Amino acid sequence: MKNVLITGGSKGIGKECVYAFSKKGYRVFLNYNKSEEEAKRISEETGAVIVKANISKSDEVKKMADFIHSQYGKIDVIVNNAGIAEQKLFTDITENDWDNIFNINVKGMFLVTKEFADDMIFRKSGKIINISSMWGITGGSCEVHYSASKAAVIGFTKALAKELGPSGICVNCVAPGVIKTDMNRNLTEDDYRELSEETPLGRIGSAEEVAKVIVFLADDASFITGQVINVDGGMVI
Ligand code: NAP
Repeated sequence: MKNVLITGGSKGIGKECVYAFSKKGYRVFLNYNKSEEEAKRISEETGAVIVKANISKSDEVKKMADFIHSQYGKIDVIVNNAGIAEQKLFTDITENDWDNIFNINVKGMFLVTKEFADDMIFRKSGKIINISSMWGITGGSCEVHYSASKAAVIGFTKALAKELGPSGICVNCVAPGVIKTDMNRNLTEDDYRELSEETPLGRIGSAEEVAKVIVFLADDASFITGQVINVDGGMVI
């Protein structure tokens, strides 16, 4: 049985990944930080193993990895999905805002990947899928710290793909456009309408549509590495 760790599996895109990987027969490790009720409910429905950890804290990530390694042996697929966003004028972004975004979106991905990379290299196999954003490619106004963190996810993906390719490990990145999840709870219906009009496919996307691409990269794709796959209805062409 293949094991997948999904960070931020309690909500949105991560939650849909938990459902999609479970349906494919994977043993799913559902990481979460705050949303305990949601995590428990999803686990009851899917059989996913819950692993609580704030991914920006190295001691919590290590504890999570030690538990997985000691009880289940290995991780075949990592989905570095957990992330936070914030809309602010650049002049209002504080040092704390900057650190908070980078600690979760970038350092968290680094800490989680590092815990499992040695074993993947030893086994000469593994898939690592990182979640960036279209703003990491184009830059989003009033989201400078978020955009910079998501650009870092792309740099991390490309460099690691080169380094781990000789060990048979694929590292890719998915860059969603506007997806209806809690992350966008501050958007109004009018905002959604405007964003849909800007999108060639004329609508916003669903978390399920992103999860399908993540599962494809993990399960079917064997000769794709170092790539950024846009799942954005054509927003970035
Ligand atoms: P969401 O609905 O807000 O869910 C975020 C998830 O991240 C939650 O499960 C949350 O868990 C987890 N998380 C946050 N901080 C964490 C931490 N310190 N440790 C562990 N888990 C943590 O967001 P989403 O829309 O699904 O976004 C998922 C990913 O897609 C993010 O990386 C985001 O940047 C990216 N993305 C989203 C969109 C979009 O339009 N929605 C577009 C582009 C990219 P808890 O609630 O349990 O803390």
